[in-house]
Amino acid sequence: MMWITRSIRRSLMLPHSHAASYSTALTSVAAVEAERSIREGPRNDWSRPEIKSIYDSPVLDLLFHAAQVHRHAHNFREVQQCTLLSIKTGGCSEDCSYCPQSSRYNTGLKAQKLMNSDAVLEAAKKAKEAGSTRFCMGAAWRDTIGRKTNFNQILEYVKEIRGMGMEVCCTLGMLEKQQALELKKAGLTAYNHNLDTSREYYPNIITTRTYDERLQTLEHVREAGINVCSGGIIGLGEAEEDRVGLLHTLATLPTHPESVPINALLAVKGTPLEDQKPVEIWEMIRMIATARIIMPKAMVRLSAGRVRFSIPEQALCFLAGANSIFTGEKLLTTPNNDYDADQYMFKLLGLIPKAPDFSQNSGKDFESENIEVAASSSG
Ligand code: SF4
Repeated sequence: MMWITRSIRRSLMLPHSHAASYSTALTSVAAVEAERSIREGPRNDWSRPEIKSIYDSPVLDLLFHAAQVHRHAHNFREVQQCTLLSIKTGGCSEDCSYCPQSSRYNTGLKAQKLMNSDAVLEAAKKAKEAGSTRFCMGAAWRDTIGRKTNFNQILEYVKEIRGMGMEVCCTLGMLEKQQALELKKAGLTAYNHNLDTSREYYPNIITTRTYDERLQTLEHVREAGINVCSGGIIGLGEAEEDRVGLLHTLATLPTHPESVPINALLAVKGTPLEDQKPVEIWEMIRMIATARIIMPKAMVRLSAGRVRFSIPEQALCFLAGANSIFTGEKLLTTPNNDYDADQYMFKLLGLIPKAPDFSQNSGKDFESENIEVAASSSG
């Protein structure tokens, strides 16, 4: 644990009022950086030791100060409800060690073709009726190259669902620049592509694509003017240093992701990680609170693994700065929280569903004719 001494306070050049308030008690790095975050807003020049020191702060102090950043940057009562639908399940060529959809592991999951339009739109309609404002479509592919028919079909789904007044997100694997532009033109709000873990630990989890390829996809998404959704998974057997490494990569991107999902591994039988022990709630709280302090404006999403947490445990995650959840029976192929239980939790905790936000994908951009999209996708 790292504590702030007088000399560190001086080196951080805290204003007099803050320095005075620290004169009677020692405080944590989380407290200092949270104050700075509130005062100066987001920054992209974080060092890894700085993030590590926030992460290592006494957990209740970390939680308290993350809550303050959260209240400063967001309406603390608002939680976005997103629905994630697997529109193309299983049979994936990649070897992500946590994933039941990889064709390399024997998880009993049957590969399916791309869902048809009626089924996808019906699911989106139901999600909207149930209060979701963002509809995410996931396909178990390495990338969309060579899948022109399917890709064009997905562009149609994006247009239709955006036309229903929902934010639309896709996670289809690696994306080329051209495809990102086409998705943008169709009205896509956000693209999800997780970094999963630190650069150092990544080769223990996936060998079929590199960390840099992942970052390249994020760059294409950003350049196309689509919001970036990128986070990771804890409980893969990584060290705390790797969790810090993941957060460091995200927080030092030229622009922070608009959305940062924090997943807790749900170990699936048949995958190489089937015997991993479940993560503790305090590990989630450390991740969420650190993410909130270092990326104050991002939506921090309490994602996979939420099903294992009680309402009081989830309440601590919301307090720490999580402001988005996935609702619906399943998260791709793994179980998720019951719909009625989530409604009850919202009522109990005084949470309100967040309205859709199209501000970063304004109507003008959405309709823009200026986006250069070549006649066909590269797939
Ligand atoms: S996480 Fe995605 S890319 Fe990796 S195996 Fe699963 S579906 Fe394929």
